[in-house]
Amino acid sequence: MPEIISVGELIVDVMRMKVDEPLDQPGTFAGAFPSGAPAIFTDQCALLGRSAGFIGAVGNDDFGRMDIRRFQDHGVDTRYVAVIDEVSTGCAFVTYFSNGDRRFLFHIGNSAASHLPDVPADYFEGCKWLHICGSSLSAGERMRDGCYRATELAYEAGAKISLDPNLRPELLGGEQAVREVLEPVLSRAALVLPSASEAEILTKTNTPEAACVGLLARGVEIVALKRGEEGCRIVTRGESVDVPGYPVEAVDPTGAGDCFDAAFVVGLTEGLPLAECGRLANACGAAAASVRGPMEGSLSREAAFERAGIG
Ligand code: ATP
Ligand code: MG
Repeated sequence: MPEIISVGELIVDVMRMKVDEPLDQPGTFAGAFPSGAPAIFTDQCALLGRSAGFIGAVGNDDFGRMDIRRFQDHGVDTRYVAVIDEVSTGCAFVTYFSNGDRRFLFHIGNSAASHLPDVPADYFEGCKWLHICGSSLSAGERMRDGCYRATELAYEAGAKISLDPNLRPELLGGEQAVREVLEPVLSRAALVLPSASEAEILTKTNTPEAACVGLLARGVEIVALKRGEEGCRIVTRGESVDVPGYPVEAVDPTGAGDCFDAAFVVGLTEGLPLAECGRLANACGAAAASVRGPMEGSLSREAAFERAGIG
């Protein structure tokens, strides 16, 4: 059974070739690329050499076959990736603007990406980490309940729970709704990996420092605060470490956060000191941001450890 499991949407991304090409006009696209926040996470864990499994669903179509092939090529356990005949593989269209904005057009709710197979409790035997993404909790009620159920099964099996609260309030009807949806996972989470604004929303605070204090007070053991090109800040009850980022030209930041999460969790499973976990995570996040396609820049174990200077 896998040591690291994630559950959620497995999709493809189709992205504009150039910045400032809105989606309400014809234009050129690149892709499709395998995607979905928890899928990017799982793929990066496997590439870093850990035993990783994914729970999700694709349609019986070419995009779904591409996603499964990518997972299998990288060693992800796909026995609980369902292939559904009645619906298509989920997808997202993405465009970036020169002012830093980005826009997504999602086809998730009526796609295979909102489905989950039934997973027996014994799949979580031997699981050390379960990773949940906020994005999955907004992919429909069935997916949300599946994530909550996986959280309980993993928790009962003695696994640690990590949460990336990458949930946009505007998609869910406001900040209170975001807090409510995340609560069943947050209350079990040992590790939370937010951006500053996500941390502040979660804790109803208005500085990252206060937000970290608030998360720790709730029982979270480690907060890994993602800071884009600046790297990250890792906060526990005993210490706070700022780890600088690796300079890259950011071509496509989508997926950087998920690769960061994966490398951080892998570092923890290997017992690395927090600063080294942060370096490994920053290296993987920077690499992901520097390549077009959310999984296309994921690093091999050798490359990641070398860039992070961990021997
Ligand atoms: P997303 O949710 O869009 O994947 P995020 O907001 O969760 O991203 P970011 O802070 O943008 O997370 O990026 C995650 C990590 O990736 C950062 O903490 C950093 O280590 C790395 N990273 C992202 N962008 C850059 C960049 N331009 N240069 C260097 N490193 C980057
Ligand atoms: Mg994020």
